[in-house]
Formats: sequence, C-alpha cells, structure tokens
Amino acid sequence: MKVFNGIAVSPGVVAGPVLVLGSEDFRIPRIYVNHDAVESEVHRFHAALDFVCNDLRGNEELVTSQLGQQYGAIFSAHLQMAQDPRLISEVEHLIREECRSPESAVSRTLRGYAAQLQKLGDRYLSERALDIYDLEKRLLRQLLGESREELRNLTSPVIILASDLTPGETASLDKRFVLGFATEVGGHTSHTAILAGALEIPAVVGLGRCLAGISGGESAILDGDSGQIIIDPDEASLHKYQESRARSLRLQERLDRSGSLPAETSDGQRISIHGNIEFPEEVSQCVKRGADGVGLYRTEFLFLSGNREPSEEDHYSAYCRVLEACGERPVVIRTLDIGADKVPQLMETQFADAANPMLGLRSIRLSLQNTPMFKRQLRAVLRASVHGNLKVMFPLVSSLLEYRQARMILMDVMEDLEDEGIPFQRNIPVGMMVEVPSAVILAEEFAREVDFFSIGTNDLIQYTLACDRSDPAVASLYRSGDPAILRLIQIVLRAADKFGRSVTVCGQMSSDPRFIPLLLGMGLKSFSATPQTIPVLKEVVRSLSLPDATRIAQHACSLDLARDVEHYLQGELARLCPELFGGAPF
Ligand code: PEP
Ligand code: MG
Repeated sequence: MKVFNGIAVSPGVVAGPVLVLGSEDFRIPRIYVNHDAVESEVHRFHAALDFVCNDLRGNEELVTSQLGQQYGAIFSAHLQMAQDPRLISEVEHLIREECRSPESAVSRTLRGYAAQLQKLGDRYLSERALDIYDLEKRLLRQLLGESREELRNLTSPVIILASDLTPGETASLDKRFVLGFATEVGGHTSHTAILAGALEIPAVVGLGRCLAGISGGESAILDGDSGQIIIDPDEASLHKYQESRARSLRLQERLDRSGSLPAETSDGQRISIHGNIEFPEEVSQCVKRGADGVGLYRTEFLFLSGNREPSEEDHYSAYCRVLEACGERPVVIRTLDIGADKVPQLMETQFADAANPMLGLRSIRLSLQNTPMFKRQLRAVLRASVHGNLKVMFPLVSSLLEYRQARMILMDVMEDLEDEGIPFQRNIPVGMMVEVPSAVILAEEFAREVDFFSIGTNDLIQYTLACDRSDPAVASLYRSGDPAILRLIQIVLRAADKFGRSVTVCGQMSSDPRFIPLLLGMGLKSFSATPQTIPVLKEVVRSLSLPDATRIAQHACSLDLARDVEHYLQGELARLCPELFGGAPF
C-alpha cells in the first residue's frame, strides 16, 4: 500500500482502478493474463521490443545523418537501455511468474527504474528518467496498437492520475467514467481544481512527484475530503472507505433536503449565497441546491472548450440558457478572463513567449487590446440583458483607467445597438472584480464609479502574498486566513459601505465553510461559491447569529498568523456544526 498526500480540492471519497495519464493519454486495459498464455505473451513482448529497437536504430541513423553524431547518440542510448539484459529478464520474470500482461510488466519495470533515478536527487539523472518514460511509451504504443484507449473514449470507471491536467483537459473529462482525479502539481485555487468542483469530480492536487512506480491498473482510494490517495489499499483502509462512504451519503441526503431552506442566520439576517459556474449546464445544480443566483459566470470557458473563438451568437445563446434556467435570480457575467493558465489552444502562440503570464496580458488587459473580440462579447451580454436579471463585471481591474476604458467600450456597444434598434437593458449594473492589491488600495475611488464589487480572493491572495496559486511548492504560504488578506477584505467592505455599493466574495474562500462566520462577522452579506458547497454553507449560516459572527471575526482579526486564524476558525466551525465538521476525516 502506498499513501500520497496532497491538497483536497473537490470533495468525495471514491475507489476504483487507476489510470495513469502520460502525455499520450492511454491506459493499460489488462493487468494480468491467463497462466496458459504466458509464453505467447512473452513472445508478444519480444516482438514489440524488436520493433522498437529497429525503430530506434532508424531514428539514430536519420538523426546522425541530418544533425550529427552527438544528436544520434540520444537514440543509441535509448537503444542500449531497450537491450539491457537485466531489464528484459525483469519483464520476462513479471510475465512468467506473476502472470502480468506485457504492458503491465513493461510499465512496472521501467517506472521502477525511473523512480530510482528520480530519488537520487541529481538533476542529470532525473532527466534520464524522462528517457525511460520515452522508452515505456514506445513499447506501450507498440504493444497496445489498436486497443489503445483514449481518455475521450473511456468505457469503464477509473481514477485518473496525471502529472497535470490543463483546464481544457479537465473540462472534457467524462463524468460517467472518471470517478476522481489526482495530479502531481496544482494548488487550491488552480483552475483545474476549480473545474473539478464544477464537474463535481472528487479531486486531489499537488501530490508532488508520485507517478513513477505507478503503472496504472492498481486499485486506489481517492479521498477528495482530506486530500489523500491510497494505491493498493489494505483491508483496513478498504473497510474505513466503506464506512466513510456510507457516512458521506447520509450527510449528502440531509444536505440535499436543506437546499430549500433560506440562508438565514439564527437571528433572522438573510444572506445571499450564489453559485460560481463555468458552463451553462451548471445552473441547474445551483438552482437545485438553493442558490440565490449566479454570482460568477466564468465565460472564458466558452473559449476553452472549442478550437475557434466563440461568435457573438455563441456567447448570446450561452447567456440566454443561463438566464432562462435562473428565472428571476440575478446572473453576474464576468467578461473574458483569459491568459495565465487559462490559455485556449487557438491563442497558444500569442502567449508562448510570456515570461510571467500571471503578470502578463490576461483578463481585462487582453480584452482592452482586442476590442473587436471584447465588443462581440459585450454585444451578446447586452442583447441577453433583456431576458433576465443580468449584471456584468470586469476581471483583474488594476487601475481606474482600465475600468473607465472598459466601461467606455460598453457605452460604445450600447450606442451601436441603439442605432441598430436592438433592445438591451441600459441600466445594467456594471461591477468589477477586486483581485489585485492596487484595486483594494483605491477601493474608495473605484467605489464612486462601480455599481458593485466582487472580491476574487484566488487572485488577490496570489498577488498579495506573491504566491502562485497553482504551485504546490508554495501552497503552505498561500492562505485565505492570512491577516494581510483579512485586512484587504475589510478595506473593500468599508469603502463599499461608504458609497452604498454591494460586495460579494466569489473566490474559493467563499466555498470554504471555515471562513463563513468570519466573513459574515466582517459585514459581508453576499457569497458566491462552488455550487456543490452551497448546502453546507447554508447550514453554517443557519447555525450562528450575527453577534456570534462578529465575535468570531473580531477574535480572528486580532491574530497575527494565518495558521492561528485558520486553526481558530476550524475550531469554531466544529463547535457550530458538530455533525458536519466535528468528526475525524476519512
Ligand atoms: C478569483 O480570482 O478569486 C476568481 C474568482 O477568479 P478566477 O478564479 O477565475 O481567477
Ligand atoms: Mg481571478
């Protein structure tokens, strides 16, 4: 049994066979073969090995003749590896003695070698591990041939293990077969993590290096509540898993029932809890869970799921679908937030040279530099505005000039529509996301001009604490409970209050029940969270009174370490909702 710990980003505990995704996205369908078949399987292995060796010889000759011997030598090194008698006899041994399929035997043997090299900690040797993976891939490609199973065409349930999944890959996961996933990289608020929540697929990210040595096909338990994955679990772990699953199903039933109750504190203060969505299909989940509306629609996912820029009609029909499903409830459309890690394929070349994409041309900056694209989106937003309760907001605003330019373009689009006689809502509320410290520092100035604020803590934390939100190496520094973050939120709340503007927190901090009493106590009345978490958040709201919340906020804000703030809030949460948060994790 192997246990790996990472960051829990999407709840749920699942068990099933592992599918390891290499860059080729294929899996090993059969781990064992019939005892009678071992000799023919050994033969199949040798046939594949011969083919790969010939291929490598061909590559070596071609590259040597075109680029010179030093480059050809890369392939001769691979060839030497492929012909290593120790490697060959280990694979044969696994097939003959353990009845493993050649695919499983090759993968297990080569990954074992790669793991040993990586453990030595030497950079040169670590890079040689990549050569071993390359050889593994060549052999598997040959062995699997036509029976290679693509990620897109899964036919049975699996837990996916990958070094990383891009937001686009995550968005295309088939929920029917993907029980859960775990990645070596990623952080709490990486977009892959956010998507896992949207798709309601249990997920753990930031495991660190763990793929070497796992060949796929092993059984596993993935715990998206505590952030753990267990490979080849023992009996005791399996038993614990069954118990934990039964407990979580019971809780889920109870939470489903509470979806219809209002988010109201015990002393009668009504709080708004909205859902964050990436796809129109998610609205039904928001409604089912009793959301007051959509507080953040990440429209850039229209770009990520296709390989062409969405037309005005694509935008318009997506927005109309969301509005129709929401009825009277408000829907906040955020204009494109592309760049950094959310780069659609069709724009990859545009971003290829950015040395630091998080500080580069992303979000509103990109829209302002690409006015035709921005206007197409704004036209669709305004046209849709007559079909429901629509608001629009701009992401990553870092200066007043940016906000004014964006608003000016919105006015231009209004004039165009007016000239064309197309109806729209002239008084559509226009807001901005508060995601960078400069926006907080100038919160009063912004408050004079915007209709509402939405605090994006995911980015606000990364830009304030200088911590990449996706980098597990700094995950322990990236904390919502950091006193600096609490102070920034207080500044925004005060500025908004002074000018009568509403404020929502739509970053993941809002989806974390620990922070609900704190934010309520600081004066926040509106949250926008991952739809799945809404019933839990409601329970927390319903468990306390405003004076309770104020006391909790005052104490939390008097602490000077993030760790102490979060520990204190965890204790308060367990006290408020013992049934949900008092027990031991899986
Ligand atoms: C945020 O930054 O908190 C936010 C909600 O935006 P995103 O996660 O899409 O960057
Ligand atoms: Mg953001």
